[in-house]
Amino acid sequence: MSTLFRYLPSVDKAMIALEADPVVMGLPRNLVKDLINEFLELLREEIRAKRINSGEELSLEYIGPRLQAFVAQRSKPNFRRVLNGTGVVIHTNMGRSLMAPAAIEAVRLAAAHYSNLELDLGTGERGSRYSHVEKLLCKLTGAEAALVVNNNAAAVLLVLETLTKGREVIVSRGQLVEIGGSFRIPEVMEKSGAMLREVGATNRTHLRDYESAINDSTGALLRVHTSNYRIVGFTKEVSLPELRGLGDAYGLPVIEDLGSGNLIAEGGIVGEPTVSSVVAQGADVVTFSGDKILGGPQAGLIVGKAKYISEIKSNPLNRAVRIDKMTLAGLEATLRLYLDPDQALQEIPSLRMIAMGFETIKSQAGRLARLLRKELGLAVEIATRRDNSRVGGGSCPERDLPTVLVCIKPKHISVNELRERLLNSDPPMIGRVEDGEFCLDPRTLDTSEHKLAAKAFKQVLTRKE
Ligand SMILES: *Cc1c(COP(=O)(O)O)cnc(C)c1O
Repeated sequence: MSTLFRYLPSVDKAMIALEADPVVMGLPRNLVKDLINEFLELLREEIRAKRINSGEELSLEYIGPRLQAFVAQRSKPNFRRVLNGTGVVIHTNMGRSLMAPAAIEAVRLAAAHYSNLELDLGTGERGSRYSHVEKLLCKLTGAEAALVVNNNAAAVLLVLETLTKGREVIVSRGQLVEIGGSFRIPEVMEKSGAMLREVGATNRTHLRDYESAINDSTGALLRVHTSNYRIVGFTKEVSLPELRGLGDAYGLPVIEDLGSGNLIAEGGIVGEPTVSSVVAQGADVVTFSGDKILGGPQAGLIVGKAKYISEIKSNPLNRAVRIDKMTLAGLEATLRLYLDPDQALQEIPSLRMIAMGFETIKSQAGRLARLLRKELGLAVEIATRRDNSRVGGGSCPERDLPTVLVCIKPKHISVNELRERLLNSDPPMIGRVEDGEFCLDPRTLDTSEHKLAAKAFKQVLTRKE
């Protein structure tokens, strides 16, 4: 075994062998050297594990193609496009919402050119970055004033830090939400310096529970939209108008963390409360995300009464959670689409995917299944079946969107092996594994991506062992 190590090529020889490869030619030499070293280390491990048993298996002719593939794979950018076949429209792990064409163009312009980010073109003096979206947000929500920050978690933190630091915030036990990715309402509140005063029981909270908790150090009444779960059965939640009444009686602000910010008609395709209804029912401050149901870039939107918003704006902490110029550009362009709700429904990908009709999905599933059958031949069995897609992103947890899945059963490898291999296809293909099959939901896979999906399957199913 020890003699085998002598057959390993030197880094320089391996370098020369790679030189003709166009992928390698475009890479910094130091990076290629490091990758060759990593590859040689892999070979050493294989020798130790007795998986390589002859000098011939270590010749450059023999290992060259593998080395090339290794370098190509490892030198790709880490952050890359994937295909979402899961049917979860707002998938936090895959970047939540896709942006509308107008928003993408706005982001590109903001990135490529100087802009009037904080320049008032009326006077030539310094302006406010918030001015680009404030009027628009007020128009769309009916609020007096608005502010945008980095994300909704930051919005909640900033609002509480401004209005309730060192004071008690009353919230129902039924609304102590964990969103995932370690965002827990109680923990964020603690970081803001507010003290959480939980009232009621998990399933039932009454107005009198809030009222009897009010004391001299109470700073606000908070409602949190239970966006990713529903408490059903023997339940009672205090409505926003009831809380508004209590806030008025005791001179306390009423804050609503809405999570997903629906701007399209009540009920509608989205089935979530609209921001404007929450504003109209008297919430003083409302916070929501830019990249959930709204379908824009990651952002935290804060709308409400002018006196509170101006306090929040001038909090020094606001500077630390400031919105970026590309985000702001994408957000303005997205919000402008909502001025015509029909246009929003057509052009904002998240809304369009949620609204996709069953017949459309069914015919797309049929086309995808035919394409995969043609491209993959006998390596797989392919069937379609009815199931449900989900909105995701902590919105409409109990809402089922009927869909048709394309289910692929590999004949020569296990479905788990297929799933793992597809994580490394180009582009990676993510789907659902159910009942021993790998399933694709056409709702989140654009028809323009069908060919790429077929290519990904072909790559991993015809791979040499
Ligand atoms: C999603 C969500 C948040 C966090 O929003 P981000 O934009 O992810 O920071 C906060 N509160 C509620 C109720 C949510 O649903």
